[in-house]
Amino acid sequence: MKSWEKVLGNDSAKKALKESFEKQSFLHNYLFIGEDEEGKIAMAREMAKAILCEGEEKPCGRCKSCQLFHGGEIFGENHPDYEEIFPTKTTSKESIKKEAVMDLMESTRMKSYRGKGKVYVIHGMETMTVEGQNALLKTLEEPLGGIHFILLTKSEGSILPTVLSRSNVVEFNGMTQEETLELLMKRGYSESMARKILVMGSGSLKRAESIASGGELSELRREVFSAIHKVVKEKGYTPLGTWKFFEEKEGQWTEIFFFLESWARDVAVYFVTQEKEKIANTDFMDIMVEDAQILGERSLQMMNILHQGKEYLHYNGNKQLVIENMLLEIGG
Ligand SMILES: [Zn+2]
Repeated sequence: MKSWEKVLGNDSAKKALKESFEKQSFLHNYLFIGEDEEGKIAMAREMAKAILCEGEEKPCGRCKSCQLFHGGEIFGENHPDYEEIFPTKTTSKESIKKEAVMDLMESTRMKSYRGKGKVYVIHGMETMTVEGQNALLKTLEEPLGGIHFILLTKSEGSILPTVLSRSNVVEFNGMTQEETLELLMKRGYSESMARKILVMGSGSLKRAESIASGGELSELRREVFSAIHKVVKEKGYTPLGTWKFFEEKEGQWTEIFFFLESWARDVAVYFVTQEKEKIANTDFMDIMVEDAQILGERSLQMMNILHQGKEYLHYNGNKQLVIENMLLEIGG
């Protein structure tokens, strides 16, 4: 098996990239989109190794360049032609600012140290400011020889259309259920336990394991279900209280929405089938049943309300207003 094929799951992404790896010819830029952080990073790093490899079958894992990638404590830190860029926290939230992009541009103009070009992996593209994206756009429009960008983002929502249209988009869908199940069992979970974990994490192994081990996400999941239950149960529940919940957990909205969507799926399924066995979040069955009963036909609208809320968050500056409206709509 080729090294890049070992990246877990993501069959459609692998299919899309197969030719690049086989022909050893890579485009100037890629935009990896998807929730599967681990998959995107693993693939980006394999690709970087292949681009800069000095051996025969790239990435060979033996040449000087390949070895440099694994030389330091952090992947690639010792490689002179490789750089990973992360969002930084300046005010209240993390972002990639124009200044960081300008520094990057400066660095692309310097010669490749080992003569095989340069690779830049940008994490959290969704946090890059509009000014930053516009600065990056120039390079995407007129790529310099030997310079490669691999941009990683959770969703395309906040990426400028001009950047999107000049990027080679590859979708990362994570692992299939069967693949995740197999992996969990390899890690020592019994099949029944593995199936349970799978439902809770829905595709993301990291999320599943954190929930299973009773870690931070397990607690967050419990809090999200109980908060939304309150919103449904007490129609007059002050949305302000629940906004505080969101506000305090600013960095975890992806996970919060993930759990909310999982809740919405369960109430809709239970409302339609009236079968408890169809509920995925078995450990919160009572909440799912009760919410579906209170919501009635409105159970079927919850997913839409959440999707709409998520979309508005991208475009509307007043996040509190968006969240409160969304909760009011859920509460009815
Ligand atoms: Zn090599």
